[in-house]
Amino acid sequence: MKRNDSGLFIVIEGIDGTGKSTQAKLLQKALLDQGQTVTLDHEPSDGPYGKILRDSATTGRLSPQEELDLFHKDRKQHVDELIIPALNRGETIILDRYYFSTMAYQGQRGFDQKEIQNTNLSFAPNPDILFILDLSVDHARKRIGARGDNTNEFEKHDALQYCRDTFLSVKNETFAHVIDASKTIQEVHQQMLNISLNK
Ligand code: ADP
Ligand code: MG
Repeated sequence: MKRNDSGLFIVIEGIDGTGKSTQAKLLQKALLDQGQTVTLDHEPSDGPYGKILRDSATTGRLSPQEELDLFHKDRKQHVDELIIPALNRGETIILDRYYFSTMAYQGQRGFDQKEIQNTNLSFAPNPDILFILDLSVDHARKRIGARGDNTNEFEKHDALQYCRDTFLSVKNETFAHVIDASKTIQEVHQQMLNISLNK
């Protein structure tokens, strides 16, 4: 989908534990201090489809197809009702996860990544900046307190490695920046802020 706006659209991706939420908040604060109007948001969104996806984490996982359809419905609504209007007003949006996560996690469930990307690009705009917070699976899982000591955990490790690799696979997009997420919170923040201010 083509962009025709004066806003700044920033997306942060990476597996759990890489520091997305931490960095999203720090970046929002820093850009607010610069006088920008900044919305910090996440996907799945807080809309009705996003809620079903969120609830499914506790009520039982949906079928792969149901899940994929819901992610797309949720994103379309989010793009139409929130992202595009804010960008058209010239505002800054920071999004914690976007369609690259669908490529990773639904790709991991068996869907073709390129097809997911093409579907999304038919209704969802690309960001101006994509930060790929990159960290080894073991390091990321240590941060969130996961233990890798049984079969189920080994499976999880492989699934997350697939997701990490998927995020890295888009690093050649003009808008992508791979960030070494093993650095300190302040170092990572400074790097992300510099890139954002130079955009
Ligand atoms: P995500 O949103 O990607 O899952 P979080 O921002 O929630 O990651 O961070 C996960 C945990 O790791 C939190 O306890 C956070 O304080 C910690 N953390 C985040 N970034 C760093 C960093 N650069 N170095 C050390 N710990 C970090
Ligand atoms: Mg988070």
